[in-house]
Amino acid sequence: MFVPHVIAGRETESADGARFASVDPWTRRAWASAALAGPADVDRAVRAARQEADHGHWPRLGFAERGRLLHRLADLIVRDGEELATADTSDMGRPRHEVLTRDVPRAAANFRFFADHARLCPAEVFPADGGHLVHTRYPPAGVVAAVAPWNFPLMLGSWKIAPALAWGNTVVLKPAEQSPASATALARLALEAGFPPGVLNVVHGPGPNAAGEWLVSHPGVDRVTFTGESATGRAVATAASANLTPVSMELGGKGASVVFADADLAVAADHAAHAAFGNAGQMCLAGTRILVQRPVHDEFHRLLADRAAAMPVGDPRDPATRVGPLSSAEHHRKVTAYLAMAGHPLPATDDWTVPPALLTGVPPASPLWREEIFGPVAVIAPFDTEQEAVRLANDTSYGLNAMLFTTDLNRAHRVAAALRGGTVWVNCFFVRDLRAPFGGAGDSGIGREGGVFSRDFFTEPRTVTLAI
Ligand code: NAD
Repeated sequence: MFVPHVIAGRETESADGARFASVDPWTRRAWASAALAGPADVDRAVRAARQEADHGHWPRLGFAERGRLLHRLADLIVRDGEELATADTSDMGRPRHEVLTRDVPRAAANFRFFADHARLCPAEVFPADGGHLVHTRYPPAGVVAAVAPWNFPLMLGSWKIAPALAWGNTVVLKPAEQSPASATALARLALEAGFPPGVLNVVHGPGPNAAGEWLVSHPGVDRVTFTGESATGRAVATAASANLTPVSMELGGKGASVVFADADLAVAADHAAHAAFGNAGQMCLAGTRILVQRPVHDEFHRLLADRAAAMPVGDPRDPATRVGPLSSAEHHRKVTAYLAMAGHPLPATDDWTVPPALLTGVPPASPLWREEIFGPVAVIAPFDTEQEAVRLANDTSYGLNAMLFTTDLNRAHRVAAALRGGTVWVNCFFVRDLRAPFGGAGDSGIGREGGVFSRDFFTEPRTVTLAI
């Protein structure tokens, strides 16, 4: 299969015809080839987006009509769920039934939510004062560069571009080089839905000294929304700063699941297992540091180990599979190197799967505690007091999220207030309300997206002061 760029409404090869392979992590064979952008292709995509932003219909359509088109796109995403699931599963090995039952509906919901939010969102009017009436307007920023990772290709791509489009921007999306297919499929669906050409453009290729870097450093870009590793985020922010382009950064994480002795341990174990090992641990939100109050530590360890052992590992097209292969040979090498460091037995297979691993007795200074492994590898350790739990949970350069399990209401509020991080889940995990801010502190990112936070980033707010 060939995965083209989509530029100015046309599916296109690169100017020089260059391509790269996308390898299916389960079969370990190339299943598709994608167009490999050169600087001229990226420039063409930014110009197409610029043309539509400055002179086209999209920013001027009005919220109701744009919203109608965004809802139509959501309908088409649901219609083509099977094809989109094939794209993501073949590109990066995420279990197919999870793409179908979770990512596809959430991608559609992202477009629906931001279409409605933008249309219904009120703007401020300040009571007239001293003979002046002041109100704010939210015109689109212009051209948005969206650079996405491979771990939830469709869902994360949709989350970045839905608010950008809803607020009237045009977009150039650069998906990860490991997962190009669903982005092109999405741009194709946008055209079928009736989006004007140039509204949603897609270019393919890697990051450094390639499509990613050329896109985020392009002077024709007005916003950069980036999701990926913290080190990459630094490079992207540096490149964008040359043009003073505002950036929104959703970066890595090293989340903690904190289990108090008064918790419902079965509920906590269900969520902690999902948080540590879901999507083969390839989640920014992964709860890979599991802190358990000493009186229940051993019992909880057993419950969690049982759940981990019960997660079928293997073929991502088998509906029973919960843990598919890691996304690439390189990533598999990285994750197994961490297991080797822990003295943990290495997977016996020669494929790219890694069964869930729960490590005990790891000192907090170890890289296993401190670094984002991005595989199904978690450390578990006891704590005694609430203060100690908070200190350990906050002892990280990341600040994306934490999970807290307790039945004590006061403690839930107290600890949620003391934890560092953009999201704290209490007795749950992965629930996302798109009205609320999402993002991280420290190495986990810059800024927040969601609800009015997305509006504030993807628009150029303007104060209008009227003498009356
Ligand atoms: P990555 O940083 O390697 O790549 C992400 C994207 O950036 C890719 O499209 C890549 O091609 C591009 N890129 C790489 N170098 C670039 C450069 N110099 N300039 C411009 N673009 C460049 O990350 P990944 O391995 O694809 O994804 C996994 C990472 O993403 C993990 O660290 C994970 O925690 C993070 N992540 C964060 C969130 C969040 O919301 N905070 C969500 C998902 C993933």
